[in-house]
Amino acid sequence: MSKPNILLIYTGGTIGMVKNPDSGALKAFDFNNLLKRIPELRLLDCNIETISFNEPIDSSNMSPKYWGMIADSIETNYKDFDGFVVLHGSDTMSYSASALSFMLENLCKPVIFTGSQLPIGDLRTDAKENLITSIQLASLQDNGVPIIREVGLYFEYKLYRGNRTTKINAEHFEAFASLNFPHIAESGVHLNVSTSLLLKPNQSSKLIVNKQLDTNVVVIKLFPGISELILKTVLSSKDIKGVVLETYGSGNATTEDWFITLLSEAISRGVHIINVTQCAGGSVFMGQYETSSQLKDIGLISGKDITTEAAVTKLMYLIGQEIEPSEFKTIFETALRGEMS
Ligand code: ASP
Repeated sequence: MSKPNILLIYTGGTIGMVKNPDSGALKAFDFNNLLKRIPELRLLDCNIETISFNEPIDSSNMSPKYWGMIADSIETNYKDFDGFVVLHGSDTMSYSASALSFMLENLCKPVIFTGSQLPIGDLRTDAKENLITSIQLASLQDNGVPIIREVGLYFEYKLYRGNRTTKINAEHFEAFASLNFPHIAESGVHLNVSTSLLLKPNQSSKLIVNKQLDTNVVVIKLFPGISELILKTVLSSKDIKGVVLETYGSGNATTEDWFITLLSEAISRGVHIINVTQCAGGSVFMGQYETSSQLKDIGLISGKDITTEAAVTKLMYLIGQEIEPSEFKTIFETALRGEMS
Protein backbone atom coordinates (compact mmCIF):
# COMPACT_ATOMS: atom_id res chain seq x y z
CA MET A 1 0.00 0.00 0.00
CA SER A 2 1.30 3.47 -0.84
CA LYS A 3 2.17 5.91 1.94
CA PRO A 4 -0.40 8.62 2.70
CA ASN A 5 0.32 12.06 1.30
CA ILE A 6 0.07 14.83 3.88
CA LEU A 7 0.02 18.53 3.12
CA LEU A 8 1.32 20.92 5.81
CA ILE A 9 -0.12 24.41 5.50
CA TYR A 10 1.87 26.93 7.49
CA THR A 11 -0.07 30.09 8.34
CA GLY A 12 2.16 31.46 11.12
CA GLY A 13 2.06 31.46 14.91
CA THR A 14 4.59 30.70 17.60
CA ILE A 15 5.36 27.27 16.16
CA GLY A 16 7.45 28.90 13.41
CA MET A 17 8.66 31.96 15.26
CA VAL A 18 12.09 33.18 16.32
CA LYS A 19 13.17 35.80 18.81
CA ASN A 20 14.46 39.09 17.51
CA PRO A 21 17.82 39.25 19.35
CA ASP A 22 17.56 43.03 19.85
CA SER A 23 13.98 43.52 20.99
CA GLY A 24 13.28 40.01 22.28
CA ALA A 25 9.93 40.07 20.40
CA LEU A 26 8.79 36.93 18.58
CA LYS A 27 8.28 37.14 14.84
CA ALA A 28 7.50 34.63 12.11
CA PHE A 29 10.37 33.17 10.10
CA ASP A 30 10.75 31.44 6.76
CA PHE A 31 8.82 28.16 6.74
CA ASN A 32 11.68 26.21 5.09
CA ASN A 33 13.53 26.58 8.36
CA LEU A 34 10.74 24.72 10.13
CA LEU A 35 11.56 21.50 8.30
CA LYS A 36 15.26 21.98 8.96
CA ARG A 37 14.46 22.26 12.65
CA ILE A 38 12.66 18.90 12.72
CA PRO A 39 14.62 16.32 10.73
CA GLU A 40 12.48 13.66 12.48
CA LEU A 41 9.69 14.55 10.04
CA ARG A 42 11.55 12.59 7.39
CA LEU A 43 11.21 9.42 9.50
CA LEU A 44 7.40 9.46 9.43
CA ASP A 45 5.62 6.84 7.35
CA CYS A 46 4.03 9.33 4.97
CA ASN A 47 4.98 11.73 2.19
CA ILE A 48 4.96 15.32 3.41
CA GLU A 49 4.68 18.41 1.28
CA THR A 50 4.49 21.92 2.62
CA ILE A 51 3.02 25.20 1.56
CA SER A 52 3.11 28.46 3.45
CA PHE A 53 1.42 31.83 3.54
CA ASN A 54 3.75 34.23 1.72
CA GLU A 55 3.74 36.33 4.83
CA PRO A 56 3.06 34.15 7.89
CA ILE A 57 0.89 35.89 10.44
CA ASP A 58 0.41 36.01 14.16
CA SER A 59 -3.05 34.50 14.51
CA SER A 60 -4.33 37.69 16.15
CA ASN A 61 -4.43 38.98 12.57
CA MET A 62 -6.54 36.03 11.38
CA SER A 63 -9.63 36.94 9.35
CA PRO A 64 -12.11 35.44 6.87
CA LYS A 65 -9.72 36.45 4.09
CA TYR A 66 -7.10 34.05 5.49
CA TRP A 67 -9.74 31.37 6.18
CA GLY A 68 -10.51 31.60 2.47
CA MET A 69 -6.81 31.09 1.68
CA ILE A 70 -6.63 27.98 3.91
CA ALA A 71 -9.84 26.64 2.30
CA ASP A 72 -8.40 27.33 -1.18
CA SER A 73 -5.22 25.39 -0.37
CA ILE A 74 -7.28 22.42 0.81
CA GLU A 75 -9.65 22.57 -2.17
CA THR A 76 -6.85 22.79 -4.75
CA ASN A 77 -4.94 19.90 -3.21
CA TYR A 78 -7.90 17.81 -2.05
CA LYS A 79 -7.54 15.05 -4.64
CA ASP A 80 -3.78 14.67 -4.31
CA PHE A 81 -3.53 14.51 -0.52
CA ASP A 82 -4.95 12.15 2.09
CA GLY A 83 -4.75 14.58 4.99
CA PHE A 84 -4.01 18.21 5.88
CA VAL A 85 -2.22 19.71 8.88
CA VAL A 86 -2.69 23.43 9.39
CA LEU A 87 0.01 25.11 11.48
CA HIS A 88 -1.59 28.09 13.16
CA GLY A 89 -1.11 30.38 16.14
CA SER A 90 -3.02 29.20 19.17
CA ASP A 91 -4.68 32.55 19.99
CA THR A 92 -7.46 32.28 17.40
CA MET A 93 -7.05 28.63 16.44
CA SER A 94 -10.48 27.67 17.80
CA TYR A 95 -12.14 30.31 15.62
CA SER A 96 -10.29 29.11 12.53
CA ALA A 97 -10.95 25.43 13.19
CA SER A 98 -14.65 26.28 13.70
CA ALA A 99 -14.82 28.44 10.56
CA LEU A 100 -13.14 25.80 8.40
CA SER A 101 -15.47 23.11 9.73
CA PHE A 102 -18.42 25.08 8.32
CA MET A 103 -16.65 26.15 5.13
CA LEU A 104 -15.63 22.58 4.20
CA GLU A 105 -18.93 20.83 3.55
CA ASN A 106 -18.83 17.03 3.01
CA LEU A 107 -15.23 16.92 4.20
CA CYS A 108 -14.03 13.30 4.02
CA LYS A 109 -10.37 13.79 4.91
CA PRO A 110 -8.62 14.94 8.10
CA VAL A 111 -7.84 18.62 8.55
CA ILE A 112 -5.85 18.93 11.78
CA PHE A 113 -5.04 22.33 13.25
CA THR A 114 -2.04 22.54 15.54
CA GLY A 115 0.52 25.00 16.88
CA SER A 116 2.55 25.41 20.03
CA GLN A 117 3.06 27.53 23.11
CA LEU A 118 6.85 27.69 22.67
CA PRO A 119 8.71 28.32 19.40
CA ILE A 120 10.08 25.29 17.59
CA GLY A 121 13.66 26.39 18.32
CA ASP A 122 13.14 26.52 22.08
CA LEU A 123 14.76 23.69 24.06
CA ARG A 124 11.55 22.97 25.97
CA THR A 125 9.30 23.33 22.94
CA ASP A 126 5.94 21.59 22.69
CA ALA A 127 5.99 22.16 18.92
CA LYS A 128 7.66 18.91 17.89
CA GLU A 129 5.23 16.57 19.60
CA ASN A 130 2.23 18.60 18.45
CA LEU A 131 3.42 18.64 14.85
CA ILE A 132 4.59 15.02 14.62
CA THR A 133 1.46 13.57 16.24
CA SER A 134 -0.82 15.77 14.12
CA ILE A 135 0.83 14.38 11.00
CA GLN A 136 0.42 10.83 12.33
CA LEU A 137 -3.26 11.44 13.09
CA ALA A 138 -3.79 12.88 9.62
CA SER A 139 -2.12 9.76 8.18
CA LEU A 140 -4.32 7.21 9.96
CA GLN A 141 -6.18 5.06 7.46
CA ASP A 142 -8.35 1.98 7.40
CA ASN A 143 -8.10 0.12 4.07
CA GLY A 144 -6.92 3.28 2.35
CA VAL A 145 -9.77 5.41 3.80
CA PRO A 146 -8.85 8.20 6.25
CA ILE A 147 -10.08 7.43 9.78
CA ILE A 148 -10.57 11.06 10.80
CA ARG A 149 -12.89 12.85 8.40
CA GLU A 150 -13.46 16.20 10.05
CA VAL A 151 -11.67 19.33 11.26
CA GLY A 152 -9.71 18.55 14.44
CA LEU A 153 -7.44 20.50 16.75
CA TYR A 154 -4.46 18.72 18.29
CA PHE A 155 -2.64 20.14 21.30
CA GLU A 156 -0.75 18.56 24.19
CA TYR A 157 -1.60 14.89 23.64
CA LYS A 158 -5.26 15.39 22.75
CA LEU A 159 -7.17 15.65 19.50
CA TYR A 160 -10.40 17.59 19.86
CA ARG A 161 -13.23 18.30 17.44
CA GLY A 162 -12.07 21.73 16.27
CA ASN A 163 -15.42 23.48 16.57
CA ARG A 164 -15.83 22.33 20.21
CA THR A 165 -12.62 23.95 21.46
CA THR A 166 -11.72 27.12 23.32
CA LYS A 167 -8.30 28.46 24.22
CA ILE A 168 -8.29 28.45 28.01
CA ASN A 169 -4.68 29.04 29.00
CA ALA A 170 -1.91 31.33 27.78
CA GLU A 171 0.71 29.68 30.00
CA HIS A 172 0.16 25.93 30.18
CA PHE A 173 1.04 23.56 27.36
CA GLU A 174 -2.51 22.27 27.76
CA ALA A 175 -3.91 25.43 26.20
CA PHE A 176 -7.26 24.17 24.90
CA ALA A 177 -10.36 22.61 26.35
CA SER A 178 -13.48 21.05 24.90
CA LEU A 179 -15.84 21.16 27.83
CA ASN A 180 -19.01 19.99 26.13
CA PHE A 181 -17.60 17.17 24.03
CA PRO A 182 -14.95 14.54 24.85
CA HIS A 183 -11.61 14.60 23.01
CA ILE A 184 -11.73 12.33 19.96
CA ALA A 185 -8.22 10.89 20.21
CA GLU A 186 -5.41 10.76 22.73
CA SER A 187 -1.70 10.26 22.28
CA GLY A 188 -0.08 8.02 24.88
CA VAL A 189 2.13 5.02 24.21
CA HIS A 190 -0.39 4.38 21.43
CA LEU A 191 -2.62 6.73 19.47
CA ASN A 192 -6.09 5.96 20.78
CA VAL A 193 -8.91 7.18 18.56
CA SER A 194 -12.47 7.11 19.92
CA THR A 195 -14.01 6.05 16.63
CA SER A 196 -17.56 6.11 17.99
CA LEU A 197 -17.25 9.89 18.54
CA LEU A 198 -16.00 10.74 15.05
CA LEU A 199 -18.17 12.36 12.40
CA LYS A 200 -19.14 9.90 9.69
CA PRO A 201 -19.64 11.92 6.51
CA ASN A 202 -20.97 10.30 3.38
CA GLN A 203 -17.87 9.22 1.42
CA SER A 204 -19.60 9.67 -1.92
CA SER A 205 -20.59 13.33 -1.44
CA LYS A 206 -18.38 15.86 -3.17
CA LEU A 207 -16.45 18.46 -1.16
CA ILE A 208 -18.17 21.85 -1.28
CA VAL A 209 -16.13 24.85 -0.18
CA ASN A 210 -18.23 27.76 1.13
CA LYS A 211 -16.22 30.96 1.17
CA GLN A 212 -19.07 33.46 1.51
CA LEU A 213 -18.83 34.56 5.13
CA ASP A 214 -20.78 37.61 6.28
CA THR A 215 -18.95 39.59 8.96
CA ASN A 216 -21.86 41.86 9.93
CA VAL A 217 -22.06 40.14 13.29
CA VAL A 218 -21.13 41.03 16.85
CA VAL A 219 -20.56 39.30 20.19
CA ILE A 220 -22.23 40.95 23.19
CA LYS A 221 -21.34 39.67 26.64
CA LEU A 222 -23.91 40.53 29.29
CA PHE A 223 -22.79 41.90 32.63
CA PRO A 224 -24.67 43.48 35.51
CA GLY A 225 -24.90 47.19 34.70
CA ILE A 226 -24.87 46.87 30.91
CA SER A 227 -25.91 50.23 29.47
CA GLU A 228 -29.18 50.68 27.62
CA LEU A 229 -27.74 53.46 25.50
CA ILE A 230 -24.69 51.51 24.42
CA LEU A 231 -26.68 48.35 23.66
CA LYS A 232 -29.19 50.44 21.69
CA THR A 233 -26.39 52.01 19.65
CA VAL A 234 -24.93 48.60 18.78
CA LEU A 235 -28.25 46.94 17.96
CA SER A 236 -29.49 49.83 15.84
CA SER A 237 -26.37 49.86 13.66
CA LYS A 238 -27.74 49.61 10.12
CA ASP A 239 -25.39 46.83 8.96
CA ILE A 240 -25.87 44.43 11.82
CA LYS A 241 -27.28 41.03 10.79
CA GLY A 242 -26.37 38.71 13.65
CA VAL A 243 -25.59 38.83 17.37
CA VAL A 244 -24.03 36.21 19.63
CA LEU A 245 -25.45 37.17 23.01
CA GLU A 246 -23.40 35.67 25.84
CA THR A 247 -25.92 35.24 28.64
CA TYR A 248 -25.64 33.97 32.20
CA GLY A 249 -25.82 30.29 33.25
CA SER A 250 -28.30 28.29 31.23
CA GLY A 251 -29.18 31.25 29.00
CA ASN A 252 -30.53 33.80 31.47
CA ALA A 253 -30.58 37.59 31.24
CA THR A 254 -32.03 40.65 32.93
CA THR A 255 -35.81 40.87 32.61
CA GLU A 256 -35.83 44.68 32.49
CA ASP A 257 -38.32 45.97 29.92
CA TRP A 258 -35.85 48.13 28.00
CA PHE A 259 -33.58 45.12 27.44
CA ILE A 260 -36.31 42.78 26.15
CA THR A 261 -37.73 45.56 23.97
CA LEU A 262 -34.34 46.30 22.36
CA LEU A 263 -33.78 42.63 21.53
CA SER A 264 -37.32 42.16 20.30
CA GLU A 265 -37.08 45.21 17.99
CA ALA A 266 -33.79 43.97 16.55
CA ILE A 267 -35.30 40.52 15.88
CA SER A 268 -38.26 42.08 14.10
CA ARG A 269 -35.81 44.00 11.87
CA GLY A 270 -34.35 40.60 10.82
CA VAL A 271 -31.32 40.47 13.14
CA HIS A 272 -30.53 36.89 14.23
CA ILE A 273 -29.76 36.75 17.96
CA ILE A 274 -28.09 33.61 19.29
CA ASN A 275 -28.28 32.82 23.00
CA VAL A 276 -24.94 31.34 24.09
CA THR A 277 -23.95 30.82 27.70
CA GLN A 278 -20.92 32.69 29.02
CA CYS A 279 -20.15 29.63 31.20
CA ALA A 280 -17.25 27.56 29.90
CA GLY A 281 -19.33 24.38 29.99
CA GLY A 282 -23.02 23.47 29.92
CA SER A 283 -25.92 24.42 27.75
CA VAL A 284 -28.53 27.10 27.15
CA PHE A 285 -32.00 25.97 28.06
CA MET A 286 -34.45 28.82 27.51
CA GLY A 287 -37.54 28.55 29.66
CA GLN A 288 -35.87 26.80 32.58
CA TYR A 289 -35.91 30.06 34.56
CA GLU A 290 -38.20 33.05 34.38
CA THR A 291 -35.13 35.06 33.36
CA SER A 292 -34.95 33.23 30.05
CA SER A 293 -38.63 32.64 29.24
CA GLN A 294 -39.08 36.01 27.57
CA LEU A 295 -35.96 35.49 25.47
CA LYS A 296 -37.56 32.34 24.14
CA ASP A 297 -40.88 34.10 23.51
CA ILE A 298 -39.37 36.96 21.49
CA GLY A 299 -37.53 34.49 19.22
CA LEU A 300 -33.92 34.24 20.36
CA ILE A 301 -32.13 31.31 18.75
CA SER A 302 -30.74 28.74 21.18
CA GLY A 303 -27.02 28.13 20.83
CA LYS A 304 -27.48 25.09 23.13
CA ASP A 305 -23.95 24.01 24.16
CA ILE A 306 -22.07 25.67 21.27
CA THR A 307 -18.89 27.65 21.99
CA THR A 308 -18.80 31.37 21.22
CA GLU A 309 -16.11 30.65 18.62
CA ALA A 310 -18.33 28.18 16.79
CA ALA A 311 -21.41 30.39 17.18
CA VAL A 312 -19.72 33.41 15.59
CA THR A 313 -18.36 31.46 12.66
CA LYS A 314 -21.60 29.51 12.15
CA LEU A 315 -23.45 32.82 12.10
CA MET A 316 -21.05 34.27 9.50
CA TYR A 317 -21.41 31.09 7.44
CA LEU A 318 -25.21 30.82 7.61
CA ILE A 319 -25.80 34.53 6.93
CA GLY A 320 -23.42 34.13 3.96
CA GLN A 321 -25.60 31.27 2.69
CA GLU A 322 -28.58 33.63 2.35
CA ILE A 323 -30.95 31.19 3.98
CA GLU A 324 -34.70 31.93 4.06
CA PRO A 325 -35.37 33.97 7.25
CA SER A 326 -38.14 31.55 8.23
CA GLU A 327 -35.68 28.62 8.21
CA PHE A 328 -32.71 30.33 9.84
CA LYS A 329 -33.59 29.47 13.45
CA THR A 330 -34.20 25.79 12.73
CA ILE A 331 -30.99 25.47 10.74
CA PHE A 332 -28.90 27.28 13.35
CA GLU A 333 -30.30 25.05 16.10
CA THR A 334 -29.30 21.94 14.11
CA ALA A 335 -25.81 20.46 14.48
CA LEU A 336 -24.22 20.83 11.05
CA ARG A 337 -20.67 19.62 11.83
CA GLY A 338 -21.01 18.18 15.32
CA GLU A 339 -20.64 21.65 16.87
CA MET A 340 -23.58 21.24 19.28
CA SER A 341 -25.20 18.33 21.09
N1 ASP B 1 0.29 35.00 19.35
C1 ASP B 1 0.53 33.66 18.82
C2 ASP B 1 -0.49 33.41 17.72
O1 ASP B 1 -1.60 33.10 18.01
C3 ASP B 1 0.44 32.63 19.89
C4 ASP B 1 0.65 31.22 19.40
O2 ASP B 1 1.13 30.97 18.32
O3 ASP B 1 0.35 30.29 20.13
O4 ASP B 1 -0.17 33.52 16.57
